[in-house]
Amino acid sequence: MFEHIQRVPGDAILGLIEAFKNDPRSRKIDLGVGVYRDDKGDTPILPTVKDAERYLVEHETTKSYIGSHGAADYGDLVLSLVFGADSEVLAQQRASLTQSPGGTGALRLAADFLRTNLSPRRIWISDPTWPNHIGIFSAAGIEIKRYPYVDDQNHFVFDLMLEALRQIPEGDIVLLHACCHNPTGYDLSREQWQAVLEVLRERRLLPLIDMAYQGFGHGLDEDAYGVRLLADNLDAMIITFSCSKNFGIYNERTGAFILVAGNKEEMLNIRSQAAITARENYSNPPAHGASVVSHVLGNDALRQQWVSEVTEMRQRIRSLREQLVNALDAHGLRERFSCVLEQNGMFSYLGLSPEQVDYLRDEYGIYMVRSGRASMAGLRSEQVEDMAAALADAVKK
Ligand code: PMP
Repeated sequence: MFEHIQRVPGDAILGLIEAFKNDPRSRKIDLGVGVYRDDKGDTPILPTVKDAERYLVEHETTKSYIGSHGAADYGDLVLSLVFGADSEVLAQQRASLTQSPGGTGALRLAADFLRTNLSPRRIWISDPTWPNHIGIFSAAGIEIKRYPYVDDQNHFVFDLMLEALRQIPEGDIVLLHACCHNPTGYDLSREQWQAVLEVLRERRLLPLIDMAYQGFGHGLDEDAYGVRLLADNLDAMIITFSCSKNFGIYNERTGAFILVAGNKEEMLNIRSQAAITARENYSNPPAHGASVVSHVLGNDALRQQWVSEVTEMRQRIRSLREQLVNALDAHGLRERFSCVLEQNGMFSYLGLSPEQVDYLRDEYGIYMVRSGRASMAGLRSEQVEDMAAALADAVKK
C-alpha cells in the first residue's frame, strides 16, 4: 500500500537545530529558529503567563469542550488587542474571531474558508516569505503567485511591490505581513500602508494579513497600524493572529482567525462558516493557552505587566541590532549592514549568499538558514563582537 511513497528531506530549520546541538564548539551561535531568547540564551515562561497558569490550576473547574469558535472572552480580548479598544470596526460589530491552534492553524482555517466560500483562483505572497505560507495555501488548492519584496542587494523594493499589486486581477487575495516581516524584517511605513490600501480598494483585492509578531516591532498599537487602517476602510479582510511570540506560549498553540465584513449581518454569516471550517479541521481548539491569554489581558495589573514584558523583549532585540551594527562599524561595515537597523522584529535578512552562510557555520559555528535570515534574539550581548568579526570575514569571501 505505501510502497510508492517517497521519503522527503526534513525541515531545514529542524536540521539546523540538530546540527547546532551536535556542534561541540563552545562559542557557537544559534541564529536559526524563530523563538525569542533572553541574554542568557533561554526562552523562559513570561512571569504573567506563570501567574495565569497558577490561577488556572486553582480555579479551573472543567476541561470540557469550548466550542468551535473557542472561548468568548478570549475572542473579545484579542479583538481589542488587534483593533484597539475604541475601534469603530468593533463598535459596528463587523469583526469575528475564531480561536485557532496557533497562527499556523489560523492560516489553515483561512485557506480552507477561502476555498470553500470564495473559490479564489490565486493568492499573492511576498517574495520571500515564511515558507509555510506556500505550503498551507498550496495544500488547500489555492494557486500561489508572488510579488517582489527585496532585490538582490537586499533592499526593500516597495515601488516594485506596489506596481505588482496594481497588476493583480480583481478578486484575488493578497497576503501581507502586519509587522516584523518574516524573513526580511522590512515593514511598510504608514504612507506605504496607505498606498497599499488604495490599490486594494481600486483593484477589489482581498487582503489577508498575517500578524504573528504584534509588539515585537515598534509597540502593540504601532504594529497594528496597517491592520487597523485596512479594517477601517475596507469591507472585507482576513487576519491570522498568533500569541506564540508575544506571550511566549509557542507550544500552547494559541492564535486566532479573524474575519472583517461590511456589516454585522454579513459578519454573522461568514462567522457561521468559520465555525464549520474549524469543526471540519479539529472540532474545538486547545483551551489552555487561550485561558492564559484571557486571564492576562482581562486583569488590569497583569495586562500592564505583560505590556512591560513585551516591551522588554522588543527592546532587547532592538538593542542587539544596535550593538551589532556598532561592532560592525569597527570593521568599516556600518553602511553594508545598515539594513539591520531598518529591519524590525525577530528576523534580519543580512544579504549573505548561501556560501557565506555555510562559511559562517563551518568556520565560526554561527548557524542561520541559508537565505541569510538571522534570528536576532538568538544572539547574546557577549557574542556580538565575535559575530561582527565573523561577518566581516564572511563578506570578504
Ligand atoms: N506567520 C508567520 C509570519 C510566522 O513567522 C509564524 C511563526 N514562525 C507563524 C505565522 C505561525 O505562528 P504559530 O507558531 O503561532 O503557528
